[in-house]
Amino acid sequence: MIPSGTPEQPAARRLLVLSGPSGVGKSTVVRELRRHHPAVWVSVSATTRFPRPGEVDGVHYSFVDDAGFDRLVADGELLEHAEFAGKRYGTPRRPVVERLAAGVPVLLEIDLQGARQVRERMPEARLVFLAPPSWDELVRRLVGRGTEAPDVVERRLAAARTELAAEPEFDLTLVNTSVQEVCDRLVALLEIPARSPAPEA
Ligand code: 5GP
Repeated sequence: MIPSGTPEQPAARRLLVLSGPSGVGKSTVVRELRRHHPAVWVSVSATTRFPRPGEVDGVHYSFVDDAGFDRLVADGELLEHAEFAGKRYGTPRRPVVERLAAGVPVLLEIDLQGARQVRERMPEARLVFLAPPSWDELVRRLVGRGTEAPDVVERRLAAARTELAAEPEFDLTLVNTSVQEVCDRLVALLEIPARSPAPEA
């Protein structure tokens, strides 16, 4: 049977979802992409967690309280949303749909539950799993970054086990041994020229 389409589907070919366990280095990859490949638009998620040092509201996340998040959900403003380690995260729908309609490549850096929802709603999106070189390395990175309290680290490690088991659901796995290489692969998947210029406003 041919799956029933939505108007969002054809453009969603340029939608790439980057997922993988907490601590694997997704945000480092995203930072590198932002710096060297401004033609890729990186979605800014809404979250109820508190900002880490250096995180800027509206740049790294839109930091909202629970009531604000409830409103986003109730108004249908989120393409997907999930609870992760006791906090809520979601992707604002409109900016994603608008960028895709304009032909701009879009990257979402989201958790496994979110990736599954995107797959359902936009089946043409490509799902990339970022894997750690090893479990020990993941634990080292997660504990070593020192940004979370021990109980939060524990919750994130528990979530990481679940996320690692879901790897076969993804279209592609990239092992994060080199941030540069991962970025190059993502850029190739989005079919944009290396070190591309920013799109016109
Ligand atoms: P962190 O608190 O470390 O920034 O993010 C925790 C987890 O939430 C990471 O796995 C990250 O990819 C995921 N995440 C960030 N934004 C979103 C989002 O909009 N939706 C979903 N489902 N997960 C997100």
